[in-house]
Amino acid sequence: MKEFDVIVIGGGAAGLFCALTAGRRGRSVLVVDSSNKVGKKILMSGGGGCNFTNLDITPENYLSSNPYFCISALNRYNQWQFIDLVERHGIPYHEKSHGELFCDNSSKDILNMLLAECAESNVVIRTKSVINKIRAVERGGFNLSMAGQKLRCQSLVVASGGLSIPTLGASGFGYEIAEQFGLGLLPRSAGLVPFTFSDWVKEICESNSGLSIDVEMSVNGARFRENLLFTHRGISGPVALQLSSYWRPGQFISVNLLPDQDALALLLEYKQSNPKSFLRNLIAPFLSKGFTQSLQARYWPQYIETPIAEISNVTLEKLASQLSDWKLKPSGTEGYRTAEVTLCGINTDDISSKTMECKTQPGLYFIGEVLDVTGHLGGYNFQWAWASGYAAGCYV
Ligand SMILES: Cc1cc2nc3c(=O)[nH]c(=O)nc-3n(C[C@H](O)[C@H](O)[C@H](O)COP(=O)(O)OP(=O)(O)OC[C@H]3O[C@@H](n4cnc5c(N)ncnc54)[C@H](O)[C@@H]3O)c2cc1C
Repeated sequence: MKEFDVIVIGGGAAGLFCALTAGRRGRSVLVVDSSNKVGKKILMSGGGGCNFTNLDITPENYLSSNPYFCISALNRYNQWQFIDLVERHGIPYHEKSHGELFCDNSSKDILNMLLAECAESNVVIRTKSVINKIRAVERGGFNLSMAGQKLRCQSLVVASGGLSIPTLGASGFGYEIAEQFGLGLLPRSAGLVPFTFSDWVKEICESNSGLSIDVEMSVNGARFRENLLFTHRGISGPVALQLSSYWRPGQFISVNLLPDQDALALLLEYKQSNPKSFLRNLIAPFLSKGFTQSLQARYWPQYIETPIAEISNVTLEKLASQLSDWKLKPSGTEGYRTAEVTLCGINTDDISSKTMECKTQPGLYFIGEVLDVTGHLGGYNFQWAWASGYAAGCYV
């Protein structure tokens, strides 16, 4: 029987951060990961540059059935503390936009930093290892079995992440552990994920694939302004990914294609100033020629060769509302295959917001994405991983 003070299941962002925090306190820590490598999502993140945090972190950047749950951990370990760690390791970084911080070189810098901190604290890491059985011991602690090997620990930390991108090692193991110990699970779905379409919109997306435009999108009271990217299957880009976390199947989403304009005022103004121009030529500078032609084929095929002066104000009003409130009904999303995160997860009502310890099972901790806390795009998910990992790491 091998004994550790702490066993962490999952060597991703949250698990490694918890391990190094506990290790610094002198706790003996084992990290067990089923993948052949730890931190795979860190390596893949931010297009290989790892958007490791954001300069502007607020609880409003997180979705959870309990919006207050994340506050304590985010305050206890904030973005400035992580930035300080990054600077102490001499990792060059830059702000891209919206306060998003990326490595100048590669996301490997962040993973190497975490591994160096773990090594310094004598954290033991086992990859390609799967825990088969977990049993709570009456006098405290847990017995685990791993490929015939017996393990024992006082504190067990579940940091196995969400379901997104199974090829990067994602599994539902954390949810199974939660069920074993009677914790509540909220129905999960893919978040920060591209939308797909099966109707006429798919054709528009296909023929404009690769085009990126600055729009405002909204659904269910959430509103984001960033770039939208047309793909062969639908829409992606930061604005679509952000909105996907708020969308429910069957709902329409609204796209303001002219976010800096009052669309009707613009068209009426053009009617005065450019009476002989065609609508497509007036709109193309905002939306590109190709996309304007797609819209024209759908919304004003009868006015293709009509100068704007000959289009009635009532028709212009209708067209303006199609431009400022383009209503689309996604057929779905690309799902966990490409999603950056899993929405919902383990109900935070069962977890202490201060320590991440399970309220009904002393010594059992849940951190990171496996919990019902999901950040916006922009470094918020990693900050949650660091902060929740730190919170647990201080108590395990
Ligand atoms: C492509 C991509 C890009 C992203 N980019 C960013 C970004 O730039 N900024 C940002 O803030 N967020 C980003 N995210 C989200 C971020 O990666 C996650 O929110 C974060 O990694 C969650 O940390 P975690 O430790 O909870 O889970 P993970 O990092 O997913 O780690 C979970 C670990 O548990 C292991 N595991 C799973 N099942 C088992 C098991 N049964 N036994 C043992 N180990 C197991 C996995 O192998 C993995 O190593 C991105 C996500 C993806 C998919």
